[in-house]
Parts: sequence; structure tokens; C-alpha cells
Amino acid sequence: MCATCGCSGTAVVRLFPLDLAGAAGAAGAAGPRQHAHVHASHEHEPHEHEHEHEPHAPHQHEIHQHDHSAQDERTVQLEQKVLAKNDRLAEQNREWLRERGVLAINLMSSPGAGKTTLLERTARELGAKMAFSVIEGDQAAMLDAERIRASGCHVVQINTGAGCHLDAAMVAEGLRLLDPPSGSVVMIENVGNLVCPALFDLGEEARVVLASVTEGDDKPRKYPHMFRRADLILVSKTDLLPYVDFDSKRHAADVRKTAPDALMLQVSAATGAGMNEWYAWLRRRTPVPHE
Ligand code: MG
Repeated sequence: MCATCGCSGTAVVRLFPLDLAGAAGAAGAAGPRQHAHVHASHEHEPHEHEHEHEPHAPHQHEIHQHDHSAQDERTVQLEQKVLAKNDRLAEQNREWLRERGVLAINLMSSPGAGKTTLLERTARELGAKMAFSVIEGDQAAMLDAERIRASGCHVVQINTGAGCHLDAAMVAEGLRLLDPPSGSVVMIENVGNLVCPALFDLGEEARVVLASVTEGDDKPRKYPHMFRRADLILVSKTDLLPYVDFDSKRHAADVRKTAPDALMLQVSAATGAGMNEWYAWLRRRTPVPHE
């Protein structure tokens, strides 16, 4: 988990709101042993706000068994603190979204499973009927945000630096920048990773996990935490099924065992197969705009 791998303690986070008509802009920097979140204002002029995190447990190369146990204990306590703080912020996001009448969806998968391609097609085909915007999470680069903007969507790119997941604080800033209207949907495309994003509540109403046929049918067994709390599992890139070694029945059975209540749909954002079921799932959850 992230306090162990260290990504939460050293990440420099940058937010880039993309104007549909113009260019993006933001910057950030961090001091030693500090985690710098770059908070962007409503005027789209981000300012920095640094705050100290709990120091990591000291790293020692020569340490006897007792010290290992003490260090493990400190690490566990730090993990619990990080997650408890995140959960509090996630609840604030959830309340903010509920009061606004906005549906937020946390979209997670391994890198390259087709999250951005799914969102591009969804924006093109649903954009006229449904207001939606996107928060893009990647460690670096603006590539996905630019693709989403080209499909006509308001988008904020969050670059997490060394961080391997989005957290509730980052999403809070992204939401303030997006300023989504009542009755709209905010798609949060998490950093591509089947491990850490599963642990961090962002305040979303629903969790959608993409499992592409190109990455193999063993992922529900190898990464059960990611699948366990999913509301919807989209088996993606099904147009490639004839060319890859992917046992759909075995995959479905493993998903059922891990996430018995999750709905599972097969989609291809390339051919459009199954996309109407995905749109129907979205429409059922889209809130009625407030007066
Ligand atoms: Mg992407």
C-alpha cells in the first residue's frame, strides 16, 4: 500500500484545468520530506499549498527482528492515519456532490485497459444528451486530457508525480476547478494501477473497473481488492477476443466469486459493441438537476 511504497509521502501534485478553447497552465514544487499539493483556484490560477505529512518510519539496513516489528507497527499506524484522513475528505466530496446533484464515478484499471478510449466514445455519443466532465489522473503528461478535450468535454488533468493513485484531496481540487453543473456526471479516470487506487475512496458514488481482454483473465484472482468493491466491471476490448488468450467464462466466474454483487458488461469502444448497456447504466444513475 502507498504509505509502504512511499508514493503518498513524496508526490508533487499538479492540476491542469483545460479550457475547451485555450491552453492549460499550472506548476508546482516541493521541499524535502514534504508533500506539495498544488491547489488551483476558481480563477484557474493555481497556487501552492504545502503541508507536512507524517514522517516515514526510518529506513535501516541493519536492524534486528524486534526493530522490524516496531517498524512494521509504525508503518501500519501511518497507513491507517493516511486512509482515515482520506476517508474524511472523501465524505466531504460525497456530500458536496450530493448537494449539487452531481454523479461522480471512479474509473479504475491497469494502464492501457482503455479507460480514456471508453470516455472519448462516451463523450462523443452521449455528450449531446448528458452533461459530463472528466478528471484525468496520470503520473505525468497531458495526453489523456487533450484527447478528452478534443471530444468536447471539460477536463482537469491531475499529474500525481510519483503518486500511484488519486486521493480525495486531489479530487476535491479537481471538482472545484471543473465546477460541474447539477444533473451532470463527473468521470474520474484514476491513475492506471490495479493496486493502490482500490484503497482510496474519492467520494464517488460508483466504482467502475475496466478489465481488458488483452491483459489476461487472471486479474480478478491476482488483484481481488480492485474487483471486490466494484459496482460495475467492464470487460473491455472485446473486439480483440479472437486474437488473445482470454477465457471469458473463467474470468466471469472469478469476478463472480470476488464481486458477487457487481454488474458485468462486455464492451468494445472500438466497434461500439455493448456501449448501449454502459450508457443505460449511466443514465439510470444520473441525478435529476436541482431547481
Ligand atoms: Mg488514460
